[in-house]
Amino acid sequence: MTPHCAISVCLAVSNRLRRLSAHTPRGYGLPRSSAVRFIVVQALAVACFTASGNAQDHHFGPVRRNVIVAGLNGALGGLTAGTSQAFAGKSFWRGFARGAAGGLVVYGGKCLIAERSPAAWWAGRELAAIGSSEVANAANGRPAFQIVTIPVGLIRFHFEPRAKRVLSPTLDVVSTAYAIAISTRSGSRLAIGQSLATGAIVFVTRETSNAIGGNAAGIVTLSELVPNGNFPALQSERDVISHELIHSAQYDFLVTAWADPIQSVIVRKLPWTKPVTRYLDFNLLMPLEVVANSLVLYGSRPWEKEARSLVSHDR
Ligand SMILES: [Zn+2]
Repeated sequence: MTPHCAISVCLAVSNRLRRLSAHTPRGYGLPRSSAVRFIVVQALAVACFTASGNAQDHHFGPVRRNVIVAGLNGALGGLTAGTSQAFAGKSFWRGFARGAAGGLVVYGGKCLIAERSPAAWWAGRELAAIGSSEVANAANGRPAFQIVTIPVGLIRFHFEPRAKRVLSPTLDVVSTAYAIAISTRSGSRLAIGQSLATGAIVFVTRETSNAIGGNAAGIVTLSELVPNGNFPALQSERDVISHELIHSAQYDFLVTAWADPIQSVIVRKLPWTKPVTRYLDFNLLMPLEVVANSLVLYGSRPWEKEARSLVSHDR
């Protein structure tokens, strides 16, 4: 996102909310009725990010690229929390500041993932998950670190550090379905070593195209052709894992900061769903991810540019 675009989005959101508040003295009440408006504003923000994705191109130097990627993560966290708080009748800018701080923690986690070692992969993904949790806390107006969600494999662990409580873990239904689909594909096998090294589910797949790796719903796939670092001209397995794990961190943000609140709204509206959603996460935004991937060409996707920018050889 260019600075001009970021400022335009913030001002537009702020002005729109101010006009709306004249008609709704009790606030916008996102948790009660305005999930649709929340999604619309977020979609506009994402569209702006997509349109301005060129800012992450490699013609910028490594320092400038990192500043841009950090700014994008901060802006996305800030917009998420700011708009949610504004819809609830609270201060947009206070929410924005807290969300932006969470977004910068997400960026820090992604930088760690890019360090290409098992310790960095684990620490980086979980640090990014803590940042995503903080964006969600800020968006809901909860105190800092009230709920922290840590994904390990297909399970998401939820903690309340302040209350020293552990909530029931949840199973990510979309990730599970994708993992089952991959495991039944001919020539695929679970990569136990790489899964233990990353904390994500990793499969080695027989590759018929020229793809060397993939990620959907946080599940990593590696082509059986990926070398183990013996071919300097090619990307090593560690490069590919770091790149794909950054996509897992992006997925964690999508689920924790955006999909979880939508599921919470649905549970409040339909209390009979509670026994199921207590243990299962459905990531209702997954169709949006599929649509976005089909609409935006690979080379223009901001999420690809972020992963390529962080795991590059010329840092
Ligand atoms: Zn990618």
